[in-house]
Formats: sequence, structure tokens, C-alpha cells
Amino acid sequence: MDNVDNRPPFFFGTNLKMHQTPAETVAFLDDLFSEVGEVARAQRIFVIPPFTSLPAAAEHPAHKRIWIGAQNMHWAEDGAFTGEIAPGMLAALGLDLVLLGHAERRAQAGETNEVINRKVHAALRHGLRVLLCVGETAAERSFGVGEETVVHQLKIALHGVPAEKAERVMIAYEPVWSIGEGSAPATPNEVRLVTRLLRRRLRLIFQRDVAAPVLYGGSVNVQNAASFAALPDLDGLFVGRSAWSPAGFAMVLKEAIRARIGGVSGKLP
Ligand code: PEP
Repeated sequence: MDNVDNRPPFFFGTNLKMHQTPAETVAFLDDLFSEVGEVARAQRIFVIPPFTSLPAAAEHPAHKRIWIGAQNMHWAEDGAFTGEIAPGMLAALGLDLVLLGHAERRAQAGETNEVINRKVHAALRHGLRVLLCVGETAAERSFGVGEETVVHQLKIALHGVPAEKAERVMIAYEPVWSIGEGSAPATPNEVRLVTRLLRRRLRLIFQRDVAAPVLYGGSVNVQNAASFAALPDLDGLFVGRSAWSPAGFAMVLKEAIRARIGGVSGKLP
């Protein structure tokens, strides 16, 4: 999946949240693959369906080029955890990644940074990549502690992770106030500042430069994708609502890739 002009791949994916039956996910991947299959040769495309769609998604032909991830997992190997899914169960499906620390899990399921840290270790032990979400709430932002919050979340989530595993962790900066219905996106300048902050802190945490990709998510759409993708320090976009149809996904992705690489011929179908 190397990029033809040797640029690192752009990371681009969606979390389908609690949408789609297995059959709907198969239809989504069928259409998505015909829309973005070529782009997925050079860029890093991923889809994160609900649990019940994962076996079908993992076996779908699109999985040859598109990473498939889970939306959550437990940190324990097994045990009396009714309703939970263990890391080994996800790894057994051949999944590529697991999403951890999404704002909805933090707010609705009470996930703490300490729990997320346990999950990060468990995922890495099982060979799963981690897509770690960090981001401040509107209240934290209004009190002027947005940066502190993001650094606090990052440091605890990654505590004890060895530097050689760092490139298997993707960081998504998702300010809580920017995600979901009725929210406004961060500005590209806000994203640029936090991306730089995250990179500096990653260097301090791991005591060296690490290739952990940094993504932005929060009300990304076809109109604003290019302004984020043009940020040189940003490695990708994590998109919700705008990418929940194959056509929407493809349109936002193509805007991002155009801004990123100037539409290198042969890359954009
Ligand atoms: C999200 O919920 O993580 C997200 C990025 O959503 P949206 O793009 O719909 O704001």
C-alpha cells in the first residue's frame, strides 16, 4: 500500500457507530470498494462497523485494501464480563484496529483514562492497532484547559507503552464540542496547534520521534476536508456523519487527497 510518490499514506476512515446490520455493512463495503478501491492502494482507508457486522466485514473482499476495526473492547483476556468482547476475539477475526477512548464511550460508558490505558496495552498485546481518541469538552475549553486535558488523556492512555509499539497507535484529536449533530468543526488553525502539541508530547512520552499518525475528527465534511488535509503536520481524518454513505465517504476522501497531493494522476478515480 505504499504511495507511488513515496509520501506517507493519508489516513482516512469512519466509525459507523450503532448503524448498519451485517447485510447493510456488506452493501456499504461493496459500494465503497468500487468508489475508493484505487485510492486505497496508496492511502490508508479504514472502516469501523458495529460488532455484529465485524465477521462479514473482515471476510469482505474490500478488506484486502481497507482496514477494518472494532469500536471498543474489554481489556481482560476473558472472564465474567457479560456483554463485553475480549481483545483475542477481535484478533481472531483478523481485524486491523480497535477504536479506544471515543468521546461517546468516555461520556456514556464512563470510560476513564486508566481503563483506556489497560485497553491500549491489551490491544497491542494482541497485535491490534489502536485508534486513540483524545479531546476536550466544551466546558474544559471554556475554562482554558483544553490543551491540559488532551495531554492528560494522552499521557495516561499511553503510559507504559514501549516506543517500538508507538507507530501502532494512531491518535485522533476529536474535540468533544466539534463532533456530532449540531456541532461546528474546529478551525484548521486550532487543529494545527493541537497536532503540534500532540507531536511534542509524543516525543516526550517516548523519548524520541515516533511515527504515531495524528488525525483530526469533528464535523469534517466535503466543504472543509481540504482545509484540514492541507495541514502538513496532520496525517489523516476521522469522519463521522459525512462518510456514512459510500458516495459521501468517497467525496470527502477525494477532497482530502486532492488537497494533500494535488491530485496525482492515477490516484483519483
Ligand atoms: C465522531 O463522532 O467521532 C465524529 C467525528 O463525528 P462527526 O464527523 O459526525 O462530527
